[in-house]
Amino acid sequence: MAIEMTEHRITARVPELTNPTNVIEVPLSIRVDPLTGHTSRIVSGTKLSPTERPDLTDLTADPPFCPFCAGTIERATGTFPAEVAPEGRIRRGNAVVVPNVLAYSEFSSVGLYDTTRHFLDLPDLTPARVGDLLGALVEYTGALHRIRPMWSSINANYLPPSGSSLIHPHAQSAHDDVGTTLQRLLVERSAAWRDGSSGEGSFWDELVAQEQGGPRWVGRIGRVSFLTPFAPIGFHEVWAVVDGSRDVDRLTDADCADLGKGMSRVFGTYRDLSLTSFNWALYGGGPAPSDRWSTLLRIVSRSNAEPMYRSDVTYFEKLHAEAMIDLAPEDLAGTLRPHFGG
Ligand SMILES: [Zn+2]
Repeated sequence: MAIEMTEHRITARVPELTNPTNVIEVPLSIRVDPLTGHTSRIVSGTKLSPTERPDLTDLTADPPFCPFCAGTIERATGTFPAEVAPEGRIRRGNAVVVPNVLAYSEFSSVGLYDTTRHFLDLPDLTPARVGDLLGALVEYTGALHRIRPMWSSINANYLPPSGSSLIHPHAQSAHDDVGTTLQRLLVERSAAWRDGSSGEGSFWDELVAQEQGGPRWVGRIGRVSFLTPFAPIGFHEVWAVVDGSRDVDRLTDADCADLGKGMSRVFGTYRDLSLTSFNWALYGGGPAPSDRWSTLLRIVSRSNAEPMYRSDVTYFEKLHAEAMIDLAPEDLAGTLRPHFGG
């Protein structure tokens, strides 16, 4: 039985932009996410994406003080207890993980892709930098889960439009007994998929099998599948599904390297599309992860770092939990696929 991709095709009648006395028919697609049931709107017509990049020179210039730059980080950040990190901080290559000063979770950390560079533009987020950052955060997560299993996620803001208060590129992890609304929903719906009957495959196995080679397929690196979602929750949204990995701390060094490769290609494509800002989230399977969950990474672009630029969050996204997107996931996948050798 195939996963059902439900789409409501609607035709709206609106005045023509350049000739308002003329009424034209415009197609609109409302898509239903097969796992969560959330709906997304894929609109046609006016393109909301930027056509050129802002100049980031002033925003990203070396500041007098940055807690995350090499030379400062040792005195500006704290250390983990010895049972979590014997050296106090966790390092991989130029990546470093330190305790977060902001307590948004019982355990929270900040990970820097590279302390030797205050700013890394999208093409500078190389496979090695992203892979090292993930490896260090996975090591931190593993140390916490030896204390007790928890809901874990690794997440990133990048530049102020994404919600980041610091320019130095970084990620943040969150670990507690509660998890987040969307993380719990994803994991719970995955466990209940097809009534949880043991003979059926997991949603994620079925999804990857069904989407592979199709219009939303981007490519595969190792056991990581990259694709665009049928019903996105954000602009330029890309998913990576790590087959057989139930939780963040189950990611191997090879998984981190493969995720790093793919994420780096997505960031490079974002640069080609004149984008500058993004968020990503890597969702673990919770304190009792089932084999019906596969660790999921989701990346979305955000508004450009430009004064008065239109925010990509409207009342639809903020108050209806519904994305309104003007680029079809299939078109985005077509743009990404050549970067994955397809
Ligand atoms: Zn810095």
